[in-house]
Amino acid sequence: MDFAFDNSFFATMEGFYAPAEAERPSAPRLLAFNDALAARLGLDRAGLDDAALAALLSGGKLPEGADPLALAYAGHQFGHFSPQLGDGRALLIGEIVAPDGARFDLQLKGSGRTAFSRNGDGKAAIGPVLREYLVSEAMAAMGVPTTRALAAVATGDRVQRERAHPGAVMGRVASSHIRVGSFQFFAAHFGADHVVQLSDYSLRRHFPEIAGAANPHLALLDQVIVRQCVLVAHWLGVGFVHGVMNTDNVAISGETIDYGPCAFMDRFAVNSVFSSIDANGRYAYGRQPQIMHWNMARFAEALLPAIHAVAPGDVERAKALVDAIPERFRGIWHDRMRAKLGLGTGDEGDAALIDALFGELEDKAVDFTLFFRALAMLLRGDGAPMAALLPSADAMAPWIADWWTRIEAEGVDPAERAAAMDAINPLYIPRNHKVEEALAAAEAGDMAPWTRLLDVVRTPFVPRDDAADYEGPGPADAAPYRTFCGT
Ligand code: AMP
Ligand code: MG
Repeated sequence: MDFAFDNSFFATMEGFYAPAEAERPSAPRLLAFNDALAARLGLDRAGLDDAALAALLSGGKLPEGADPLALAYAGHQFGHFSPQLGDGRALLIGEIVAPDGARFDLQLKGSGRTAFSRNGDGKAAIGPVLREYLVSEAMAAMGVPTTRALAAVATGDRVQRERAHPGAVMGRVASSHIRVGSFQFFAAHFGADHVVQLSDYSLRRHFPEIAGAANPHLALLDQVIVRQCVLVAHWLGVGFVHGVMNTDNVAISGETIDYGPCAFMDRFAVNSVFSSIDANGRYAYGRQPQIMHWNMARFAEALLPAIHAVAPGDVERAKALVDAIPERFRGIWHDRMRAKLGLGTGDEGDAALIDALFGELEDKAVDFTLFFRALAMLLRGDGAPMAALLPSADAMAPWIADWWTRIEAEGVDPAERAAAMDAINPLYIPRNHKVEEALAAAEAGDMAPWTRLLDVVRTPFVPRDDAADYEGPGPADAAPYRTFCGT
């Protein structure tokens, strides 16, 4: 397979990373390979059997042209600054330029220790690898900006956590792995010159159209803020709880990154928290916009030396950009919600309509995913799916009447509108009980449930006859769902 690497970070950003080597797995075995993503990247697997692919994508025999390195970064973890994090269990092995010119990082996650591993083993267990693969592919299929999964390879080695697990390596593809924490690292340890260099690189790579702005570092802040607003609006729209929004897990590209303890909620609850280590609910579902705002304030702080170096007066502008985040987010979020509700135009009553909806969903503990599908069925004249979701058939009658009034005022063909809603409101998400079932089977050596679940969540909007058991939440009397960081 010709990766045609073009490793710009390795070549031009010396001092921003530590060269590294992958550990050789003892018996690499391909668990999954993403043919569609490979095609998008322009990779041709012709002539390569699974064993050869497994070796290439696990560190067994790195592809030609790879320049493996570990990125340096810092980060605020649960509000506290850690000056020294970095890729402790991942290697950036190179950059691939796709046929359409888009540039991607290829990273191997779980391939052994690096200069930044601290006390960690640099390894990954099969469960977290297959979880990230599955959820990130589901997110991509739903249209949420995200890193992607190219491959999962079992290493044949054991990884010791609270008990021993089979080890695995994930081949992760991202438009880059530059994080807010990357800027924080160089601001904290090196100062303005390095921040300027990283900002210039980021601008060239992600925002070439604004590289000529009067103050490009201020323009970078502005663009990253927009992308984070869009990202969090997507998350809220599909009931996603990231779970560990530390600044080292915030990619400046605006892609979802780091699928450790994430989960989707079933019944709507604004305080939903799944991560076992998030005891105070810092990263609860409904707090994600505020945390994004807080993280962007940290990004602005890290960029300030660069912004100031170009124009001292622009520091005030940076502050104004950060202060405007809540309002900017609200605009983007309400647009998203209008689309989910089938509304094509804005109305001054929309904020109240949306707030009232969340109050009702919480009060009636409605399944967040199925609600929007049931709403579209109302437009088709079928009230049964909605009635089945609610504690009683008319439980949300006043809100639905208000929504209906808005819908009728727009006068669009109901069937057309219902189709537009179904095209953005997923029917299939990675339901927690299905994910756990699939990962348990995979760990025991049976990949079939995982492969099937992946297949279902890859076409999230299209109902299928053979997947009824993937639609709903798990048993109502199940214990609260708990997730763990993939360490
Ligand atoms: P995360 O919680 O996955 O965002 O990771 C936070 C930091 O811990 C990052 O610097 C990781 O590289 C590092 N880390 C996590 N797990 C391991 C591990 N098993 N070995 C070495 N470093 C790790
Ligand atoms: Mg991380």
